[in-house]
Amino acid sequence: MHIPTLISRKRDGEELSAADLRQLIDGYTSGEVPDYQMSAFAMAVFFRGMTSAETAALTRAMMASGDCFTHRPGHPPAVDKHSTGGIGDKVSLVLAPLVACAGCWVPMVCGRGLGITGGTLDKLEAIPGFRVQLGLDEAAIQLEKLGVVMMGQTERFCPADRKLYALRDVTGTVPSIPLITASIMSKKLAESLDRLVLDVKFGSGAFMRTKKEAESLAASMVTVGRAMGVEVQAMLNPMSEPTGRTVGNALEVVEALECLDGSGPTDLRQLVLDLAAAIAGVPREALERLLDDGSARRRFDQLVAAQGGNPADLPRLGELHRAPLIREVRAPRGGVVAKVDAGLIGQAALQLGAGRARASDGVDFAVGFDHLVKCGDLLHHGQALCRIHARTAVDFELAEAMVEKAIDVA
Ligand code: URA
Repeated sequence: MHIPTLISRKRDGEELSAADLRQLIDGYTSGEVPDYQMSAFAMAVFFRGMTSAETAALTRAMMASGDCFTHRPGHPPAVDKHSTGGIGDKVSLVLAPLVACAGCWVPMVCGRGLGITGGTLDKLEAIPGFRVQLGLDEAAIQLEKLGVVMMGQTERFCPADRKLYALRDVTGTVPSIPLITASIMSKKLAESLDRLVLDVKFGSGAFMRTKKEAESLAASMVTVGRAMGVEVQAMLNPMSEPTGRTVGNALEVVEALECLDGSGPTDLRQLVLDLAAAIAGVPREALERLLDDGSARRRFDQLVAAQGGNPADLPRLGELHRAPLIREVRAPRGGVVAKVDAGLIGQAALQLGAGRARASDGVDFAVGFDHLVKCGDLLHHGQALCRIHARTAVDFELAEAMVEKAIDVA
């Protein structure tokens, strides 16, 4: 295949065949197609878009660039949830063990945070000893035993996506619906799922700022998933304020544990139940019971133990990751909370060190926010808007200024 011709065809708006896309992706994975040609191709897709047939073919080619899960015959329904990301989104930590308790298999391959968006892997790694690097064989054994595994993408899992996502990140080609669809769906489809629910966010703390953009992304991902024989449902959920009342890695695990214990913030519990009910194959009331009777929490503890952590550390996670400075930010006046801007809170969390600006950066598990107010909360003058957990006084002051901008009390 002559790559410059293929790039030119895409540049001129031609529809490429599945064979074209397969050869391109295979060549890129093996190193035959260099980054500069793939960058030009990604930019051509960014401007020209792709038909649904092309997007499905690109997804399939990326999925097939590495190993996929092969579940044994007669396995329980393999299900998963994918969120397009947000601030304070700890849903996966609760949903995965919960849905496993309902009798499903959850082979969840999770991502790291980037920019203002947090990532499930970073949250899991706040648990001392928790191993996210598992091979597919080990993951299969754990699925058989526990019905749930939460792991990172390995070298051999969708390698085309690993390379291409890193390339898009530095070439201005991330916000392209066909490329996002292929990137996300190749990884989810490589889990060999029966059912998938997509939590597509929109708002100031989301990738997609408007509901209309989120609808287009959701439609594209649903079309590709269904074309590949998976029962896919998409839910559009606002990310105008953070999920729950904490933002930051260890702080979010603590809040997820509260939810697993049947308490925690209402918005988090409702979102977990909405998404879990779409894939679990049992009524919502049964899922509520599994949260309230301790079953989901026990499964999470077993998951932690199976992946190298010690469940006895969980109740003292806040102490294990205690930031040097924990201070409240006070409301400038009494009234009702009218806005908690998720995007600004995400930027403040990034500033504190809870997130990473570049893929190669590390994260600070201890820092972030808790006791965050929610829209509709009634406050007195001087009551806390949140607590900031910071490494230094300078970090605290920078984050405090951002919080004051993010939260409106009317
Ligand atoms: N997350 C992914 O995995 N891929 C994208 O392209 C965007 C978000």
